[in-house]
Amino acid sequence: TIALKNLSKKFGQVEVFSNLDLTIRSGEFVAFLGPSGCGKSTLLRMIAGLEGVDAGEINIGDRRVDTLPPGARGVAMVFQHYALYPHMTIAENVAFGLRNIGTEEAEIDRRVAEAAEMLEIGALLDRRPAQLSGGQRQRVAIARALVKKPDAFLFDEPLSNLDAALRLRTRIELAQLHKRTRATTIFVTHDQVEAMTLADRIVVMREMKIEQIGAPMEVYNRPASDFVASFVGSPP
Ligand code: ATP
Ligand code: MG
Repeated sequence: TIALKNLSKKFGQVEVFSNLDLTIRSGEFVAFLGPSGCGKSTLLRMIAGLEGVDAGEINIGDRRVDTLPPGARGVAMVFQHYALYPHMTIAENVAFGLRNIGTEEAEIDRRVAEAAEMLEIGALLDRRPAQLSGGQRQRVAIARALVKKPDAFLFDEPLSNLDAALRLRTRIELAQLHKRTRATTIFVTHDQVEAMTLADRIVVMREMKIEQIGAPMEVYNRPASDFVASFVGSPP
């Protein structure tokens, strides 16, 4: 479970989120959907601890985490720009977060091998990021999140740098990955098709507010506003 209670957030003097509540169930795949600038990344970064909150609570599982540093929250984030370390091999990149927290080498090897198998990057482990395609790099970034065995995955537009074919393939892989891990997942996108096909529920955002929350077909068939209707492409 990820529970946001009464969250408020200011940028300078301006309150951008006020009294925001949202509960994501354990094992659920939720998409944050909305146009550029509506606050999707900011909300995700607040959950990850990369952005502070001014009031309210963030709970993950049965722990209150809003005062904890990012590394102690039990979440793993994947960014639009994969942010791999260029001087390290792919295996070292995937293992990095585990080495950092002192995981045993044998356990690291096991988890890297398991993630490499799931994401089909086993043949790439000795290469460096510059020797990989965009799609391969994105799979490495997902593997790096996977080995941490987090309570929750936070994806910020992980597919937006990929071409259409690779986007579709990676989308299917993400769905399979979620089936296998059943980890609570938040997936940020401004692509309604991605949100509709991947998510158990969609959180439609507009101008730093949650406009509607619901299962994809519910949002599509019963949009809460003209904005939601036009954004998810509901028939008039
Ligand atoms: P996109 O789809 O383009 O990634 P987004 O929904 O992720 O958009 P955010 O990055 O969350 O949008 O930004 C939401 C709003 O908050 C924007 O108006 C942005 O300019 C503003 N914003 C984000 N970070 C800061 C910051 N550190 N200081 C001030 N304003 C910020
Ligand atoms: Mg964003």
